[in-house]
Amino acid sequence: MLKFTDTEQHYPDVKAAAKRKKDFDEIYAPFDPAEAAVQAERCSQCGIPFCQIHCPLQNNIPDWLKLTAEGRLEEAYAMSSATNTFPEICGRICPQDRLCEGNCVIEKGFGSVTIGSVEKYITETAFASGWVKPIGGISESGLSVGIIGSGPAGLAAADILRRKGHDVHVYDRSDRAGGLLMYGIPNFKLEKEVVLRRYKLLKDGGIHFHLNKDITDWAELHEKHAAILIATGVYKSREIEIPDYSLGGIVQGLTYLTASNRKGLGDKVGEFDSGVMNAEGKEVVIIGGGDTAMDCVRTAVRQGAKKVTCLYRRDRANMPGSAREVKNAEEEGVQFVWLCAPKAFAGKKAVSQILVQRMRLTTHDMSGRQSVVPVDGETFPLACDMAIKALGFDAEDLPTMFNAPELKLTKYGTLDIDSKTFMTSLPGVYAAGDIVRGASLVVWAIRDGRDAAEAMHAHMMAAQRGKKAA
Ligand SMILES: Cc1cc2nc3c(=O)[nH]c(=O)nc-3n(C[C@H](O)[C@H](O)[C@H](O)COP(=O)(O)OP(=O)(O)OC[C@H]3O[C@@H](n4cnc5c(N)ncnc54)[C@H](O)[C@@H]3O)c2cc1C
Repeated sequence: MLKFTDTEQHYPDVKAAAKRKKDFDEIYAPFDPAEAAVQAERCSQCGIPFCQIHCPLQNNIPDWLKLTAEGRLEEAYAMSSATNTFPEICGRICPQDRLCEGNCVIEKGFGSVTIGSVEKYITETAFASGWVKPIGGISESGLSVGIIGSGPAGLAAADILRRKGHDVHVYDRSDRAGGLLMYGIPNFKLEKEVVLRRYKLLKDGGIHFHLNKDITDWAELHEKHAAILIATGVYKSREIEIPDYSLGGIVQGLTYLTASNRKGLGDKVGEFDSGVMNAEGKEVVIIGGGDTAMDCVRTAVRQGAKKVTCLYRRDRANMPGSAREVKNAEEEGVQFVWLCAPKAFAGKKAVSQILVQRMRLTTHDMSGRQSVVPVDGETFPLACDMAIKALGFDAEDLPTMFNAPELKLTKYGTLDIDSKTFMTSLPGVYAAGDIVRGASLVVWAIRDGRDAAEAMHAHMMAAQRGKKAA
């Protein structure tokens, strides 16, 4: 270990932009075994591992790096999967630059250890070597659990609860499991075979999936299960209500990405085939600066758009999306127009132009963030025949959706839970993931799902003991 002083940081090879623009395949090559060991050896095994502290899952990163450096990969996998239900997914799409790698103590001056790439390497080796097995050898508890939502929060909870012997049923309104892992995040970041492989393992481990099942009344589950977890994510797209926002050619980011992912999965997608959700040959403008916006710009490039522009009202330094994804997008030819927001759409039936308003940042407010205000009189026209809105998401109205007016919400419309027990205001009903936290990250959804599962298990077992004692 401690080789960072003479071994340079190296990430796995990335396909050249001109080549990767032509398909939706993942852009990073895997590490080869020697390279993974050499890069893992750069870890300084520092006394206080900031990588671990800043990982929402508190992954034991220094230890699995050491095991990788020593070639003890089966143990490395056992250790990394002990705290993370989906290390193959986090290794690919966590914003490591803001979490583990961004806090690596050798980052200053030497370049961090390439933690995410090593995590992906360990997990892919484990799959290829047959070390990743479905859940087995459990003793059945006789208790049944219902989980609404098969995104990372729901799946992480399902995994833990099944391991504890419960009869786990996952309900999802979608036709495939995975939530945003399946239909939000594009293939070039996370290939769908990776999600489907994990789904199959969970199914083989005895978890029951009920797909195409939209839960509209929580009472129907209440009768069947000892506990229920709500892990429904946040899906209400935020709007910009400026003149002519209902013209044709103006679409929602997640609808656009879902159509593209479905097409990639081989589905028949009418809106794509008719051109409504297809950027080919168009001058596309994406409005927003988060993960969804970055995925939209890079999808439009791959669909063969004539020109792709990203309008963001703040500047590069204040962008919520990952810096790595912005760099990837720029390499692929996306033009970023910082400090700009749409003021009006124009066109006859469909959009043909956006009137763009220049913005400026104000001084920092109490929260440390700068607000943005329009610069008087500074507007310009931008040609556009497809506008994609990627402005973020809010929670749907859950009390109405589940016919449960007593379900308490926070002022943000997310579910109000007891932070220790994960229970909502409905007894025996828990919640985890984006529906509690607001639009966040996969790694936080996994963490919340795991923690909620532990709390549900403890509560159900206590209730069972109470019943037996009585
Ligand atoms: C385009 C995009 C790109 C992203 N990229 C990244 C990234 O690179 N890295 C990262 O860490 N995070 C990323 N995120 C964020 C991440 O995907 C989410 O934080 C995470 O998926 C939240 O997990 P979840 O399980 O809470 O919800 P979701 O993944 O949203 O899953 C919720 C599930 O609940 C189901 N559901 C909802 N209501 C019902 C109902 N009434 N009945 C039955 N089922 C229901 C939905 O169909 C869905 O399958 C991205 C998000 C988006 C939108």
